[in-house]
Amino acid sequence: MRRLLSAPWVLPVAGPPIPDGALLVADGRIEAVGPRSALRDAAADAPEDAFPGGALLPGLVNVHTHLELSGLRGTLPQGQGFLPWVLALIERKRSLEAPWYLASVQEGIGALLRAGTTCVGEVTSAGVSPTLLRESGLRGVIYWEVLGPDPATAAAIAAKAAAALAELATLLRGSPLIVGLSPHALYSTTPALRAALRRLRGFGSWPAAIHAAESREEVDFVREGVGPLWEGLLKPMGMPQPNAHGVGPLALLEAEGWLGPGTVVIHAAQAEPADVARLARTKTAVACCPRSNAALGVGPPPLSTLHRVGVRLGLGTDSLASVPSLSLWDELRAACALFPELPARAWLRMLTLGGAEVLGLADRIGSLTPGKEADCIAVRLPEGEDPERLLLETASEEAVCFAMVGGRVLLDARAAAGDRHGR
Ligand SMILES: [Zn+2]
Repeated sequence: MRRLLSAPWVLPVAGPPIPDGALLVADGRIEAVGPRSALRDAAADAPEDAFPGGALLPGLVNVHTHLELSGLRGTLPQGQGFLPWVLALIERKRSLEAPWYLASVQEGIGALLRAGTTCVGEVTSAGVSPTLLRESGLRGVIYWEVLGPDPATAAAIAAKAAAALAELATLLRGSPLIVGLSPHALYSTTPALRAALRRLRGFGSWPAAIHAAESREEVDFVREGVGPLWEGLLKPMGMPQPNAHGVGPLALLEAEGWLGPGTVVIHAAQAEPADVARLARTKTAVACCPRSNAALGVGPPPLSTLHRVGVRLGLGTDSLASVPSLSLWDELRAACALFPELPARAWLRMLTLGGAEVLGLADRIGSLTPGKEADCIAVRLPEGEDPERLLLETASEEAVCFAMVGGRVLLDARAAAGDRHGR
């Protein structure tokens, strides 16, 4: 089944904008991209979806979410620093149950789609988001989160993680979702647990994501084995005093073998110049979540510098436990305000192909390129000469009117305004 999508602008990302452009989709893949007149002639039999007043572009890639926490919007303390936020989150999570998580994930998936996100780097901790993401048709990597601050339980937790990863792989088979592994952070896992995870059969086949260099407190914890994360979080839990590693979080991750092309460092807000070089040298990707960093009073990451040295970068909203929306357009506005020196094209790339690179999916998605899977969105755009700049200045959730993943339409706000994220 072939289908032609056309719009006043097509933004392939891998090449310059195409005025009066079109996209030919066949069997879930992009067959051709170019001027509408040429594609219309080449595919005279294909039905056409026209998006007047809009632009077609690759679906957005939100590289870091915790959809299971969507129901916590506005309930945790913000602007008081990292520790009060973490303590409140742990306390709230004690009372959350399955129905709450289900509603939470549904809310999150709806919000992603409405904003034109077609691919997500999701961290699951309750195990609820995988089934619903599979049903949603969205693409992405689902990282199984592992926590374990008690060194005595390392082997048992790693064994449980192995079973969970195998189960997740079975669940996701045949879907556009793949399995990843996320040791949560350096203060919530021990060196023994991280080593045990690395010894699991199958390790290396899972993309990895880890929260690291997020707060000053974390840096002190790793370097000195002291500070609020020890005094306020782990000591009251009865955990043994951690090692002083004498180096920062990213240096420790490198020493433990975690940095590399298959790993995403989430946040890197405390990255120092040596860390920027370390991320570039090891080809490690970074998920930048500037609004979350601002809410917790820790950021932002040195995004411009990371971009300049060629580190793979994507934007992530993080969860509604720390930010007010899951719209990447909102994240983009916040990031642009912090780093106005980056050009529109760099931001558009970060939202799409860059995000796909972060998640290890750039061979399949991220740009409108023949042969790639047909993940694309349509966004209403004012008339003007520079569509990339116009998009970055004006696009919002309200402007997104269509989303497709692998040729399957997940959102069509033109046809049914009342059911914008119906399947
Ligand atoms: Zn996170």
